[in-house]
Amino acid sequence: MQFQQRCQRCGTCCKNGGPILHQGDLPLLRQGIFSLQNLVTIRKGEPSFNPFTEMVEPASYEMIKIAGKGASWECIFYDAGRSACIIHADRPLECRLLQCWDTGEIEAIHGRECLCRFDLVADQDPIRDHIQRHEQQCTYALALPFLDQLSSPAPDKASMEELQGIMQQDLLLRDQAVCAFGLSLQQELFYFGRPLFQSLQHPRLRVAMSGSSLRLELVRSA
Ligand code: SF4
Repeated sequence: MQFQQRCQRCGTCCKNGGPILHQGDLPLLRQGIFSLQNLVTIRKGEPSFNPFTEMVEPASYEMIKIAGKGASWECIFYDAGRSACIIHADRPLECRLLQCWDTGEIEAIHGRECLCRFDLVADQDPIRDHIQRHEQQCTYALALPFLDQLSSPAPDKASMEELQGIMQQDLLLRDQAVCAFGLSLQQELFYFGRPLFQSLQHPRLRVAMSGSSLRLELVRSA
């Protein structure tokens, strides 16, 4: 049997999602290889795929990732037509260390010296106050217990209303920041992560949107 010992450019790793950024990737941002527009924040507690356990789990710390393409997690820098990375010479640390046939090196840096939003937003930038307010009022630690309640045999109405209130507040604070700072959608995803109504999914939960208002509906079990 012959074991793989080099990259065969199958693109699987790039299609599964861009890398998490570490302190060692700061020079790439400073050099303009990519910008905040190319990043998405996974906030602490956000349900996200953990490639080491191969399960969706609440993120144990905040992560900054290279964004995906639209609704897909495929890395924005992956050129599927050529099976190539368009920033190959300047790719982030995790991409340089990843060898799918031997994950030892990438496992060694897992969770270490990861960048967070406040590493990338200047101390005097007024958007920091908005990020902090959003973190206080719309944290996953607040929302997840109400989501978990939906798994009980008889979910209570009060939990649904609490969850709806947090999701609505999430949208309101985003709208305020978008108006105040003229943010693009890509910038919003960096500064505030994904909206709760998108990241918090449950088979018994349906979200009805009307403009910037939302209403949660309980899907009855068959
Ligand atoms: S930065 Fe390049 S190597 Fe890294 S995941 Fe994206 S396309 Fe792949």
